[in-house]
Amino acid sequence: MAGNTGHESMTDYLEKFAAQREIGERISVFAESLLTEQSPELRILEKKALEEGVPIIRPHTRGLIQCLLEMLAPRRILEIGTAVGYSALVMYTYAPEACEIITIERDEKRAAEARLNFDRFGAERITLLEGDAAAILPELEGTFDLIFMDAAKGQYIRFLPEVIRLLPEGGVLLSDNVLKEGEILESKFSVTRRNRTIHKRMREYLAEVSEDPRLRTILLETGDGAALSVRRRSREETIETGDLRR
Ligand code: SAM
Repeated sequence: MAGNTGHESMTDYLEKFAAQREIGERISVFAESLLTEQSPELRILEKKALEEGVPIIRPHTRGLIQCLLEMLAPRRILEIGTAVGYSALVMYTYAPEACEIITIERDEKRAAEARLNFDRFGAERITLLEGDAAAILPELEGTFDLIFMDAAKGQYIRFLPEVIRLLPEGGVLLSDNVLKEGEILESKFSVTRRNRTIHKRMREYLAEVSEDPRLRTILLETGDGAALSVRRRSREETIETGDLRR
C-alpha cells in the first residue's frame, strides 16, 4: 500500500492473522457442536484419558473416523499408536461387526491399560501387538481397508513404505496430527531446536504422501491436522478420447 511503513504492514498482517484465527476457532466450535454423540462408555474413556493427560484423538477426528467407517465398511483396520485404546474402541464400536482391528503400541504401561479397556468393552476382535511399529509392520500380512497412523510424528515417514504395502487399491490411510498446531507452516528456523527434526520429517512425510503416484492425498484441518490418503485404483479402462491414466 502506498505510504505504508514496514511497521504498519506488520500490524496489518498481525491483525489479519488474529482475525483469521478467531474465525477458524469459531468455525471449529460450531462444527464441534454439530458432531454426533459417541456412546456413554466411550465418553467415560475419553474423559479419563484426557484427565490423565493421555494424547487421544480430538472430537473432530473421531467424527471423521466415524464417517470413514460408514463409507468404507472395513473388514480389517490397522492402527499405529494405541495409547490406552480410545480410538481403537471408537473404531471397534462403529465398524461393521465382523471387522478385525490390529493396533500397535510400544509403551508397556499404555499397552497394559489398553488391554484392560479392550476387556471391559468385550472387544475380542481387537488384537494389540506390543512393540515398536518399525519392527512389527514388516511382519504383518494381508491388507487393511483402513490404516490409522497416530504414533510418534517423526516416525511416520519411516513407516510409510510398509503402510503402502499394506494398503489395497481403494484402501484409506488417515494420518493424524500432521499440522502440529500450525507449526508445520512455520520456517524451520522459527521452530525450537528440539522440534526441528520432527518438523523436517513431517514436512517430508506430507510431501511424500502428496507426491507418491500410488496415493491421492488431501490435507484436512480436522483436529490437529489430518492427511487423508487413498491408494489409487489402477485404471486400465480407456475411453474413446484416450487413456484415463493420469
Ligand atoms: N490413537 C490413540 C487414541 O487416539 O486413542 C492415541 C495414540 S497417541 C497420540 C500415540 C501413541 O503411539 C503413544 O501411546 C506412543 O507410545 C505410541 N507410539 C509412538 N511411537 C510408536 C512406535 N514407533 N511404535 C509403536 N507405538 C508408538
